[in-house]
Amino acid sequence: MKKIVFATNNQNKLKEVRKALPKIKVLSLKDIKCFEELPEEKDTLEGNAQQKAEYVYLKYGVPCFADDTGLVIRALDGSPGVYSARYAGPECDSEKNMDLVLENLLNTNDRNAHFKTVICFFSEEGPKLFDGIIEGVVLRERTGSDGFGYDPIFKPNGYNLSFAQMSMDKKNEISHRGIAVRKLIHFLKSSNQT
Ligand code: IMP
Repeated sequence: MKKIVFATNNQNKLKEVRKALPKIKVLSLKDIKCFEELPEEKDTLEGNAQQKAEYVYLKYGVPCFADDTGLVIRALDGSPGVYSARYAGPECDSEKNMDLVLENLLNTNDRNAHFKTVICFFSEEGPKLFDGIIEGVVLRERTGSDGFGYDPIFKPNGYNLSFAQMSMDKKNEISHRGIAVRKLIHFLKSSNQT
């Protein structure tokens, strides 16, 4: 069975991708005994996704994909964007990040935002990038208790629920990451990687 590393230890992300790729052994960072923090020093989602996937491929010799996600808010000139995890400080606290977004949007009616995920697959053929975007609005207060990150304050266009009010399956069906993962899966299947 072909082996690919997913440069994450996030169990939800692993479960989702393993389900979609039954013919591939999808390994986590822990599985390959990669316990160090991966480099993530670029100022674009594409740059960070590639830096992480390339690092793992070159050091561990197994084809690898990595993802990077940002919430892009129009009224904030695209912030927090590539800095979404650390928006309110280096501790990467989702509650503080949401508080800061809500505070910075207090004086505007423009709530337009989108989530974007970039996935980089790095193999002997070099990097291959896939993206996924979902448009929506930033709510005025937290709504719902599921999900993670900015989910309670993001409502995708065309739905009456925030991401934090949706089931995981529903969110995966429409989300930025779901779209990018499906593009990766299509590539792996059509390029005989499975
Ligand atoms: P990462 O690139 O997956 O580490 O995501 C960067 C930051 O964006 C995370 O710390 C989360 O706060 C946020 N984030 C990523 N994906 C999602 C999502 O699907 N919903 C809400 N927030 C997310």
